[in-house]
Amino acid sequence: MRAVGLHEDVIAVTSRAFATACVLVRSGGEAFCIDSPVFPDELEVLPAIAEQAGFGVVGLLATHADWDHLLGRYAFPEAPLGAAESTAARLINEPGDAQRKLRAFDDEFYLERPKPLSLPGSQRLPVPGHLDVGERSLELQPADGHTSDGMAVWVPWARVLIAGDYLSPVEIPMISASGSATAYLATLNRLEPLVEQAEHVVPGHGGPIDGTRAAAILREDRSYLEALLELGAEAPLPLARRTTAQRAIHERNVTR
Ligand SMILES: [Zn+2]
Repeated sequence: MRAVGLHEDVIAVTSRAFATACVLVRSGGEAFCIDSPVFPDELEVLPAIAEQAGFGVVGLLATHADWDHLLGRYAFPEAPLGAAESTAARLINEPGDAQRKLRAFDDEFYLERPKPLSLPGSQRLPVPGHLDVGERSLELQPADGHTSDGMAVWVPWARVLIAGDYLSPVEIPMISASGSATAYLATLNRLEPLVEQAEHVVPGHGGPIDGTRAAAILREDRSYLEALLELGAEAPLPLARRTTAQRAIHERNVTR
């Protein structure tokens, strides 16, 4: 697991599993933990990383309801979870789904957790909207298309965008069963003005990147999705993301 300070108030943590992003954001004595690393040892050490850096985590946020982003309670069991209305609804409508997928992952890698994943009701956040942390305010933007739910988080004073599963340098746009390519394109349009102002962008997978690189990925992803809608299977994949795993994602996208 890698932890990088992007700003005095922002730490980006990258999991060894799927390069999943977790971001700690603070203002004054309060901090939020956005999404989560995946492996048990990473979740175990996360509170110490936060504490040493002076980040007093008072709440968890999830960019969307996919299981690999929901594990923050293993690190901060007392912290309440906040999520977009759309994500809170998915958590209610898909009871046990995250737990089942986590168990399948743990079975495959012979991992043990201290306890089963508990996801008590999340606080529904107004999106688009604002969320206060310390003396400052985070900006929440709807981010759906990868799945039917989600939000991106803009940290205005640090100019950091936590994008959710968009703008990844390692993964092509992934349209999940509940997702939609047109909604994905609309999200890219919504994020574009923030990406243009961003010092750093933290995509859900692949580690933090600078704003210029994120803007280039945004343009590539838009071209890919437009081609996907027009040409289906023939749509060319972004140049740097043509591995076997990415081709498999492309094939699933085509069927959806
Ligand atoms: Zn994800």
